[in-house]
Amino acid sequence: MEICTVGGFEEVGKNMTAVKIGEEVFIFDCGFFLPGIIELQEQEKIGYSLPGLRRVGGVPDDRILDQLGWREKVKAIFLSHAHLDHIGGLTFLANRYPHIEIFGTAFTMKVLESLIEDAGVKINNPLRVVNSDSRHKIKSSKEGIEIEFVHATHSTLDCAYLALHTKEGIFFYSLDLKFDNHPTLGNPPNYQRLKELGKEKVKALVIDSLYAYTEKKPGGEKIAEHLLEDAFSKVNQGDKALFITTFSSHIERLNNIVKIGQRTKREIVFLGRSLAKYVGCALKIGKCPFANKVKIAKYRGQVDSILKKVESGRGRYLIVCTGHQAEKNSILDRISRGDTYFKFREGDNLIFSSSVIPTEVNLEAREKLDAKLRKMGVKIQVDVHVHGHGSREDMRELIQMLKPEHVIPAHGSQVQEKPLIGLAEEFGYIEGKTSHLKKNGEIITI
Ligand SMILES: [Zn+2]
Repeated sequence: MEICTVGGFEEVGKNMTAVKIGEEVFIFDCGFFLPGIIELQEQEKIGYSLPGLRRVGGVPDDRILDQLGWREKVKAIFLSHAHLDHIGGLTFLANRYPHIEIFGTAFTMKVLESLIEDAGVKINNPLRVVNSDSRHKIKSSKEGIEIEFVHATHSTLDCAYLALHTKEGIFFYSLDLKFDNHPTLGNPPNYQRLKELGKEKVKALVIDSLYAYTEKKPGGEKIAEHLLEDAFSKVNQGDKALFITTFSSHIERLNNIVKIGQRTKREIVFLGRSLAKYVGCALKIGKCPFANKVKIAKYRGQVDSILKKVESGRGRYLIVCTGHQAEKNSILDRISRGDTYFKFREGDNLIFSSSVIPTEVNLEAREKLDAKLRKMGVKIQVDVHVHGHGSREDMRELIQMLKPEHVIPAHGSQVQEKPLIGLAEEFGYIEGKTSHLKKNGEIITI
């Protein structure tokens, strides 16, 4: 078994791993590096091009697979979940793997389809929609290799761990890892199956080590639900506007916002393209419990006419909108620039059900946005949120259940990944021998 750490081993983003068994290669995830994408947005006003994406490091540098002679040997591509840092790059790289099957769960594949549509690209790869907790033969594999999707909890719908069953043993891919035992939508992780797999031979584990340095568990979505209850109980009522913003792909969180928001008796309206897109995908797969409780405005004209109504009927609406990272042209950005009919006034409410993704661009943009809104007298509540990545304790549990022969930290900078090597030492793994701290574009031969 040879493992190529294509992307996401030196940064948070552009996750991609390739595994070679005999003469067959399998790809796990193919994501965007979002700071690169933001840089590109500044440079290329109309769509993205692959050369542009490569220039800013926005996609995994899969040209390593050409150098290794692996690209022609790719037999299948597997996607773990719908986040852009796991599937965004595939929109632009899929054509380098023509006619190769892409496997993913229903929500992941719906989001991928919508990304492809948005990008205006054509791909000819067959899309294989699979259920969580299911196992599939790879048709084009002569080695009889199978892929298994194991249900996982994270911060979007239909997340899975991926187990590649090979003659040499199992290659296990656990991005992104978080054990939430009390999810508010869907089931807890499939611990039973993880333990069973641990009894078979797990040869290698690629593990999400973003928070390997912290023992403290982030808390599950149930905690976020209580935080939201608190936040809503503190808002200024009466004729004060009420806005809340969160991650558009976090359907479970949106469901909690709607559930608790309904108690305010305000009409709930979702504003913004990305919210409409992810909610639309959830709706198409029948996993949007709040669909008939909210109104959704996608296009600018619709958004502006709703905001006009909010301006004159501030106490009547609960607005769920985009802009938690102060992204350019998000609803919050537009409002704060005075680009809409609606203007925040003294005593209006804004809840951030999110944390700032700590990149320079985001930190600076949010600081500016918050300062501007506070100056206007807006009551801002921040960090009403629990994040979707597990702690060191979750990683410890996973290693205990799977008992892999080799451990490979991923999903972070080397600084974030290094503590996982230390954790692996607890179990007797030896760095360079059975635990491997790798940069992008390296090979591990097992
Ligand atoms: Zn994720």
